[in-house]
Amino acid sequence: MNIILLGPPGAGKGTQAQFLVEERGMVQLSTGDMLREAKSSGTEMGKRVAEVMDRGELVTDEIVIGLIREKLETVDAPGFIFDGFPRTLPQADALGELLKEMGRTLDKVIELKVDDEILVGRIVNRAKEAAAAGKPVRADDNEDSLRVRLGAYYKQTSPLVGYYWAKGQYQSTDGMAAMDDVRKGVAELLDS
Ligand code: ADP
Repeated sequence: MNIILLGPPGAGKGTQAQFLVEERGMVQLSTGDMLREAKSSGTEMGKRVAEVMDRGELVTDEIVIGLIREKLETVDAPGFIFDGFPRTLPQADALGELLKEMGRTLDKVIELKVDDEILVGRIVNRAKEAAAAGKPVRADDNEDSLRVRLGAYYKQTSPLVGYYWAKGQYQSTDGMAAMDDVRKGVAELLDS
């Protein structure tokens, strides 16, 4: 089964994806993680995307589609969880094409629904916790970048709700419940 986890920054996509990796042996494909990896390894591409990411804007479709294509061509998995991808309509079209080429299907699109107010608090908290634990704080986990990230979400990513709804693939669950209840909500949708 291949699924997309949809939702604004801080909605908990990464946390829920991790549960699915542990419980179902699925493979998480997070374009955010892939881009951060490229950034820290200092590749040409990493250098090009660093500034854009730190500002909270989206990197080009071409780059992220390339990253996803490479993974799909090299990683074998019983199912993929797309986390943070697709984020634009052209990315959604590209994903459809890629999966088709590989004889795979997109089975579900699950949105984690959350309030904006909560998101800001969660992300500020994530940055504080990382700092307190001596871990690196994401360069885009600050209030200015967060506003840009939320803006990008509503402008460029939220149209995907209608896109997948029209295809009959869209479902949503409450992302504001306790972590374990969100996990159950996602599991119910996957098993229905
Ligand atoms: P979050 O969902 O918390 O904003 P991510 O780790 O998914 O965090 O993404 C961090 C940043 O990486 C984004 O703000 C953007 O700059 C870049 N990025 C990640 N995925 C994509 C994508 N599919 N398309 C364009 N940019 C992306």
